[in-house]
Amino acid sequence: MFPTLIILLLVSLFALHFWWRAKLRREWEAWRSENARRSALEQSAAAEAVARQDALFDSMIEGVLVLDEAGRVQFANRAFAQMFATTGVLRGKALLEAVRLHEVAEIVERAGVEGRVVDHELRLSGEPERWLQLNATTMTSVDRRRLGTILVVHDLTRLKKLERTREEFVANVSHELRTPLSLIKGYVETLLDGARDNPEVAVRFLQTIQRNSERLQFLIEDLLTISELESGRVTLNTRQLSLGIVVEKVFADLKERAARKEVRLLNEANEVVAQTDERRIQQVFSNLVDNAIKYGRAGGTVTVAARVRDDGLVEVSVRDDGPGIPVEALERVFERFYRVDKARSRDQGGTGLGLSIVKHIVQSHGGEVWATSEVGKGTTFFFTLPKA
Ligand code: ADP
Repeated sequence: MFPTLIILLLVSLFALHFWWRAKLRREWEAWRSENARRSALEQSAAAEAVARQDALFDSMIEGVLVLDEAGRVQFANRAFAQMFATTGVLRGKALLEAVRLHEVAEIVERAGVEGRVVDHELRLSGEPERWLQLNATTMTSVDRRRLGTILVVHDLTRLKKLERTREEFVANVSHELRTPLSLIKGYVETLLDGARDNPEVAVRFLQTIQRNSERLQFLIEDLLTISELESGRVTLNTRQLSLGIVVEKVFADLKERAARKEVRLLNEANEVVAQTDERRIQQVFSNLVDNAIKYGRAGGTVTVAARVRDDGLVEVSVRDDGPGIPVEALERVFERFYRVDKARSRDQGGTGLGLSIVKHIVQSHGGEVWATSEVGKGTTFFFTLPKA
């Protein structure tokens, strides 16, 4: 009896031992897999945070570069790489090796001494010329140990270009205003000094004064139109218009000018209908037909035609058989104040703004404008308009 009991006890002890071991193993396995799951989750959360941070920095238009305490690149966003046209992996590279510009390295060094450098402008020569603005800040720990430098770069190229265009525009406007004004002033002074006593001379001087004051008036009107169009505040009142009727009105306004040069005006716009703003499109036709008369051949022909293209757009052309425009000037004639022949344009009362106004109006309709020309044979200006 006693040995049986002992055997039973031993068997129970063994059974308990194995059951306990199995339980411990199961718990250990469960703990291990939970741990592995948690660390995988943590890793993917960390990777996600880094990806999110990279996406955030890459979406910035400012270039960002982070350097460690030894001056090696720790991080550079996409905009930075584009601004400095760097290639390959930047991480770990020395600053000069990464950007190859001593001035940038000097700014970072100065930031190391002064703590920060703000709004330092850097001009990068080359084609196209570019302007960058650098801001460098030294990162320090609580115990004032230097941890590295952050460099933030803004691309100022567009701003600088706008500034230059505005300066050129103001210089051009001043020049354009000064010429007729000084002529008017000069003739008035000569009249006051005694020329008024000779009626023949006086009439001639007064006619010059009248011509130049008209030139001033045209210039100011064109400047106001340009500034209105460029403000972006223009709202078009478009409707379905028969272009043939608009052309007829413009021809009626310019009939006398054409007759003076014995220029024949032909309207081939027919029944073509486009979705346009009547007042604006009348100005487009008026500027183009007026130019064709002004710069075309005396005794020549100016033809306005329109057709509906396969892509559904309406294409309009204004053709003359004058001396034409040299190919290198064809693109430039749409620039403000650009003239092929300055003296001729001024003689004809031109402001140098007519084609620029045409371009603005056509573009505000969503259309395009261009010109073709053959020297000695004539010029054709084209533009497109939406049909509906
Ligand atoms: P402008 O007031 O001088 O006429 P535009 O902007 O209308 O100014 O035209 C710019 C220049 O383009 C003109 O000065 C002229 O030299 C040239 N141009 C325009 N239209 C014609 C044309 N039909 N034939 C030849 N040259 C032209």
